[in-house]
Amino acid sequence: MEEKLIKDYSSPGRRGYSLPPLEVGKSDINENLAGYLREEIELPEVSEVDVVRHYTALSEMNYGVDSGIYPLGSCTMKYNPKRNERVARISGLSNIHPYQPIEQLQGSLEILYQLKLDLAEISSMDEITLQPASGAHGEFTSLLIVKKYFEDREENRTKVIVPDSAHGTNPASAAMAGFDVVEIASNERGMVDLDALAEALDENTAALMLTNPNTLGIFEEDILKITEMVHEVGGLVYYDGANMNAIMGYAKPGLMDFDLMHFNLHKTFSTPHGGGGPGSGPVGVKDFLAPYLPKPVLKKDQEKYFWDYQRPKSIGKVHSFYGNYGVMLRAWAYIKTVGGKGLKETTENAVLNANYLKARLKKDFELPYAEESLHEFVLSGSRQKEEGASTLNIAKRLLDYDQYAPTIYFPLVVKEAMMIEPTETENIGTLDHFVETMLTISREIKEDPELVINAPHTTTVRKLDETAAARNPDLHW
Ligand SMILES: *Cc1c(COP(=O)(O)O)cnc(C)c1O
Repeated sequence: MEEKLIKDYSSPGRRGYSLPPLEVGKSDINENLAGYLREEIELPEVSEVDVVRHYTALSEMNYGVDSGIYPLGSCTMKYNPKRNERVARISGLSNIHPYQPIEQLQGSLEILYQLKLDLAEISSMDEITLQPASGAHGEFTSLLIVKKYFEDREENRTKVIVPDSAHGTNPASAAMAGFDVVEIASNERGMVDLDALAEALDENTAALMLTNPNTLGIFEEDILKITEMVHEVGGLVYYDGANMNAIMGYAKPGLMDFDLMHFNLHKTFSTPHGGGGPGSGPVGVKDFLAPYLPKPVLKKDQEKYFWDYQRPKSIGKVHSFYGNYGVMLRAWAYIKTVGGKGLKETTENAVLNANYLKARLKKDFELPYAEESLHEFVLSGSRQKEEGASTLNIAKRLLDYDQYAPTIYFPLVVKEAMMIEPTETENIGTLDHFVETMLTISREIKEDPELVINAPHTTTVRKLDETAAARNPDLHW
């Protein structure tokens, strides 16, 4: 598990290159330039093979979707086909610059345009911006649109309603956009409580932010009633699209009467993500909100694609240039590879895999909401906690078995929550292995809780103080 620093492999004179003998006269480096040659920087003198082995060893200390199952609920950590990477590296796509004349960028703009059309089709929204760099950024962009829309109508609406099962970014985005956040409780079946919603709604309501299926994996059974109730008081309904892989090809937010939404390209459309980026959070809106979208908007006339900057009502720009282009390329490659039928199958397999895990785990772990669920589900580790080891301990113990943990302690409505989303890219062997491991850990807690409490035992670093690690990161050796 130990890996030396690269400088500890250094040996004087060792090189990663070999050059032919010098065929021209040596020249002295100008006095003025000499200051740039800094002797005090001790660069490691290493060979190519030293470098490759060092970084390969470091990469093996990490865990990723290429290593095994990564069942982080809500995050959709599916395997990212390498084909997408090849497409994103095509030199005609990776070596261009947004300042090039637009005539030279037509192919690239066509790809972005096609992506826009596909997202509009998948969601039944009318216009799309690709600018936002993440789901949270898409939420924030959308709320600025909501704000501008009501300012335009000279309506003073200050309230954004968010269910208690929502992702933390929802209330955070609403607060950042200057709204007052009103939280409503879910009912005992894990869905929006219509009475609580009715009570929260009034002429002050700007929007309801809703994830559907919600973070418990449950499809809101009264969705049409919910959107209708918000519209009745003149508010807008926002769809958090992080769970699109549960409904693609089967249901569309636009048809559920949502007014605007974000996508997480890096989740639903298989582009690598984690550790804070990169991402892409396109926003889709119905026609009446299109004037407020960030500018420029990608358009097409008879001959060519172009950026439309004539958007007097636009909220402005939310990202440099046009957003995270590399992520869009991968998402486009994925959509075009699998096609409409493939996206539908993706949904089916994501739902099937999650339900298979749920069926096999619900005897040994408490299932707080028995409703039918789609691509993810939430268990509680309460029983195990009583027996001596918490959900955090279980998550850490999974690492000893070379598997990644589910999302834990979210959504907040479930005590000792374990939110499990296997995604469609795992086969039954991998799913069974995960189940057996969870059952083994549950047994270990009964027999020897200390073993689980003190996990992980086999990883490069043991249990970290996660709060301190986030607040006071120690980034040097
Ligand atoms: C991931 C997620 C978000 C935030 O998206 P990022 O791309 O991580 O910023 C918002 N809502 C839900 C339900 C999510 O799962």
